[in-house]
Amino acid sequence: MINFKTIIGLEVHVELKTSSKMFCPCSAEYFGTEPNSHTCPVCLGLPGALPVPNQKAIEWTILLGLALGCQIPEISKFDRKNYFYPDLPKGYQISQYDMPLAINGSLVIKEIATSPSAPRNDKIVRIRRVHLEEDTAKLIHGENATLIDFNRSGVPLVEIVTEPDFTSTEQVKEYLQKLQQIIRYLGISDADMEKGQMRCEPTVNLECEKAGEQEGEMVYTPLVEIKNINSFKFAQKAIDYEIQRQLEEFEKTGQEKQSGNKTTRGWDEVKQKTFLQRTKEEAEDYRYFPEPDIPPFQWTETEIRNSKFEIQKIELPDTKIKRYIKELGLTETNAIILTETKEKAEYFEKCVKLGQSDRLEPLEIANAIINKKVDSETLDPDQIIKLLATKKSAISLTESNLKKMIEQVLADNPKPVADYKGGKTPVLEYLIGQVARLTKGQAGPNLVRNILVEKLKN
Ligand SMILES: [Zn+2]
Repeated sequence: MINFKTIIGLEVHVELKTSSKMFCPCSAEYFGTEPNSHTCPVCLGLPGALPVPNQKAIEWTILLGLALGCQIPEISKFDRKNYFYPDLPKGYQISQYDMPLAINGSLVIKEIATSPSAPRNDKIVRIRRVHLEEDTAKLIHGENATLIDFNRSGVPLVEIVTEPDFTSTEQVKEYLQKLQQIIRYLGISDADMEKGQMRCEPTVNLECEKAGEQEGEMVYTPLVEIKNINSFKFAQKAIDYEIQRQLEEFEKTGQEKQSGNKTTRGWDEVKQKTFLQRTKEEAEDYRYFPEPDIPPFQWTETEIRNSKFEIQKIELPDTKIKRYIKELGLTETNAIILTETKEKAEYFEKCVKLGQSDRLEPLEIANAIINKKVDSETLDPDQIIKLLATKKSAISLTESNLKKMIEQVLADNPKPVADYKGGKTPVLEYLIGQVARLTKGQAGPNLVRNILVEKLKN
């Protein structure tokens, strides 16, 4: 058994849900539309067409950068990434090379607990950069031909690159889920992996201990980037497969990483394997150069400060969780569940606000929603609160309270009581009705009947 450590870095691409594309006025809402119905000379890559950057996409990328704790450099620019492929008729993709919109951030994730009762420690994942580029066209492979749909071409695409900080697939899953959650909270993308709105490309290699005479010396296995991943589950499976494959390869060949070299492998979900796509890939291969049609951006201090102000107005999940625990008295588990989505959190907060007049504690409301004691799927917050308030007063109506209320009814109705005692038993129904009025229907009629009959014996 080889002594080894897994090293994983992640590149995540997210399509922004701006109404128009990155560099042209075409609609960016292309999902499910007829192929090539959202195109123009710019996104078809026709010669001479000039790109005009989408302001909203730039603002949103900066917003995401700030949400991930990044610095916003004063100067940023677009570059041409040159490569030839049918999904890119211009022969280059407009991307960002050495001056991205945001750099040096981090995201805190929870480590998997070592045992069910152990606390989950925080792990910091460093974010190297967040940059903006254009999506490419979509290739649709048929039996006899490959077709190209340009509807996706030019849709704003944000790339979030981490440092190689992950050491397990569980951490990768945690990170992806948390990133998706933040993006959805910001409202800049639906980040649905199945729809291709969020795609991830893990880069995986291992640090292995050499065998034999050089035992104790650690070396790295060749770097592999995995593509074609469209769900959290596939990400885990593909990385797990790749770890095993690299381990076996190293045992057999002892091959080590060569600096700068990266192999690209695709994930085949049917075969449950990664397969070789490209053997060599370096930044120099793309011959990046500055996009001559778009001047560099220079932000003023005020502009950066305004963006920071903008992000402070949005309460992100971590801040929300802390507030729920500190101010609303929730448990951490409850707070995590109720902040899963922005909608869920807003629903809960509405309930808490409405529940104040009925003296319903946030914790009671949280428990009722989480344990499905009330149907939060179909009921509005005010219906939920009415239901909980009624239940609460029903519970507070103890049997001794009920007995007191029944005695009150008997004292208030001397005539019906005398009639009952004189043999007119149907009058009992009237007395039950009077008790129901006093208790607002919160006591079971059978219980009321039994107590009444018992009391009327005297
Ligand atoms: Zn267009």
